[in-house]
Amino acid sequence: MSRALDRAGSWVGWAFFADLASALGLTFGYMFSRSVTMQYPDKEKWLPYARYRGHHFLKRDAEGEIKCVACELCARICPCDCIEVVPYEDEKGNRRPAIFEIDTARCLFCGLCEDACPADAIALGQQYEFSSFSSQDLVIGRDDLLLKPGKAATGGGVVAARLHTEETGLVEANEPRGYNWWRNIRRT
Ligand code: SF4
Ligand code: SF4
Repeated sequence: MSRALDRAGSWVGWAFFADLASALGLTFGYMFSRSVTMQYPDKEKWLPYARYRGHHFLKRDAEGEIKCVACELCARICPCDCIEVVPYEDEKGNRRPAIFEIDTARCLFCGLCEDACPADAIALGQQYEFSSFSSQDLVIGRDDLLLKPGKAATGGGVVAARLHTEETGLVEANEPRGYNWWRNIRRT
């Protein structure tokens, strides 16, 4: 019985050792591989996947009218209470937002406002560069939200960039799908 236990114990020990050896192999492999530093933001930028939840944007319909019907559902569902909607009735009798503000300093980018909207009027895009020294600058109004970039068709790559991007464009990309940053690393 004790011999069987000894044998089992030694197999377990070898299994742990093999695991350790493979992990150390990986570590040493990276130690001697080429180091890669993303040249952010003056040369390269990460283009997030389409499912990334970045800065909100408001949408327009085919006629160019704001899609929002000022139902305030997004404001009600928001767990941070950071959306303010004040409705008005336009000349055609449609309910529209006179004020639509999001305090992005309080927002946790959960996406509930996008999910709750019955008019498909609000969504979270891929813009992630909007930090500010003033919390007042992070309260974004209706007109600015209408100008924010929407969801890009592609994502998940690093693309060529420049230091100052246009407000409506995420990145300057030479390759439409970006290039594979990971190809620079030893393991692909
Ligand atoms: S993403 Fe979430 S926290 Fe931010 S405004 Fe929408 S519902 Fe509120
Ligand atoms: S964005 Fe959507 S949910 Fe929010 S007030 Fe406008 S229509 Fe309603």
